[in-house]
Amino acid sequence: MSAPAGVTVLGSTGSIGVSTLDVLQRHPDRFRVVALTAQRNVDGLLQQCLACRPTFAAMADPQAAQRLRDRLRALDAPTEVLAGAAGLQRVAALPESDYVMAAIVGAAGLLPTLAAARAGKRVLLANKEALVMAGALFVAAVREGGATLLPIDSEHNAIFQCLPPGFDGADGRRSGVRRILLTGSGGPFRATALERLPEMTPDQACAHPNWSMGRKISVDSATMMNKGLEVIEAHWLFGVASERIEVVVHPQSVVHSMVEYEDGSVLAQLGNPDMRTPIAHALAWPQRLASGAAFLDFFRLSPLEFQAPDLQRFPCLRLAFAALAAGGTAPAILNAANEVAVRAFLERRLRFTEIARLVEHVQERVAHGAADTLERILEDDALARAAADEWLAARAVEV
Ligand code: NAD
Ligand code: MG
Repeated sequence: MSAPAGVTVLGSTGSIGVSTLDVLQRHPDRFRVVALTAQRNVDGLLQQCLACRPTFAAMADPQAAQRLRDRLRALDAPTEVLAGAAGLQRVAALPESDYVMAAIVGAAGLLPTLAAARAGKRVLLANKEALVMAGALFVAAVREGGATLLPIDSEHNAIFQCLPPGFDGADGRRSGVRRILLTGSGGPFRATALERLPEMTPDQACAHPNWSMGRKISVDSATMMNKGLEVIEAHWLFGVASERIEVVVHPQSVVHSMVEYEDGSVLAQLGNPDMRTPIAHALAWPQRLASGAAFLDFFRLSPLEFQAPDLQRFPCLRLAFAALAAGGTAPAILNAANEVAVRAFLERRLRFTEIARLVEHVQERVAHGAADTLERILEDDALARAAADEWLAARAVEV
């Protein structure tokens, strides 16, 4: 028996982080938690440190890191606490970590996830924003670092499972792959009357019919910006042109995505909507591992439906396709504007339907350029956030 693989979980206190620890704790013979991170949730990270006894913990917020350090010391716990962006990047590249779960939400995940790729880790990628912002650089870092990139996003994990091994989009035709069919539930407002959408509240937007997730991705699911980000993610992960990626609305979230082949075959991956399945898949790949997820009971499933997406209802999907077509830093600008818009919506400073309007405004306002360096990407990310903040300030009204 080989020694357990070392695992760093970035964003361990979040929805994906907690599911990851659940899977890891089922297999103590296979995995050892080496490092955990959070932004500022001291209580949550403290409990996880006591349960998993990692060598390191890192907190983005330095004051939170100091509080965690004091409390761990008082309990005589062995974990060393690091702080700030440098601390996150360090635990992403530790020699004793073989696997890095990248589960920080948003642009904040980019640098630590890149550090893991450059250090040649097996990167389990939940943080889709890293690929959306810096797809070309990220893919190059994976290649140059000798890293293995495995998708955690349920759709991409499904596609990965349905593609031929070693698939590379550049020679997709040779492998007979015709299209990628990316499924999405359509979120909680798929059937809400259009004229009622402006009054939808954060709690309504976060009440996803099938998945339990963090608030940011829940709002993205309600606008279908999540699916737009996932189209961009699929483009970079699999090297497939956007014309060959089709979004299919599938309200039951049982088919997690599909791959269509030239001979008319369609391969699909199915399962209950439980992120522990893709997490266990990526941890064990190319083997399989029990995840704790319930098995699919075909005799109790409701009928499976498939629909074309309604772009009038979901303008964010159109904006994301436009950003991918524009290329360069356009997806980073889209992502940054969306992050500001979603936060403003969650803080009740923006109506639900204004999320797309704000993103579109920023897209028109901030010119995109080449995404060939991290500096240029981060610069346009900052310009987009500033333009979004300005728009919000100019129309500061109660909603
Ligand atoms: P979440 O909000 O539940 O958790 C986010 C984690 O990131 C927390 O541990 C938090 O402390 C940390 N974090 C937040 N801001 C940070 C910052 N500025 N610096 C450092 N750490 C920070 O989010 P989630 O739902 O678990 O999603 C995580 C990622 O996984 C996202 O990119 C999301 O798109 C992706 N994803 C999530 C799901 C899901 O089911 N939740 C499914 C597919 C993909
Ligand atoms: Mg997804």
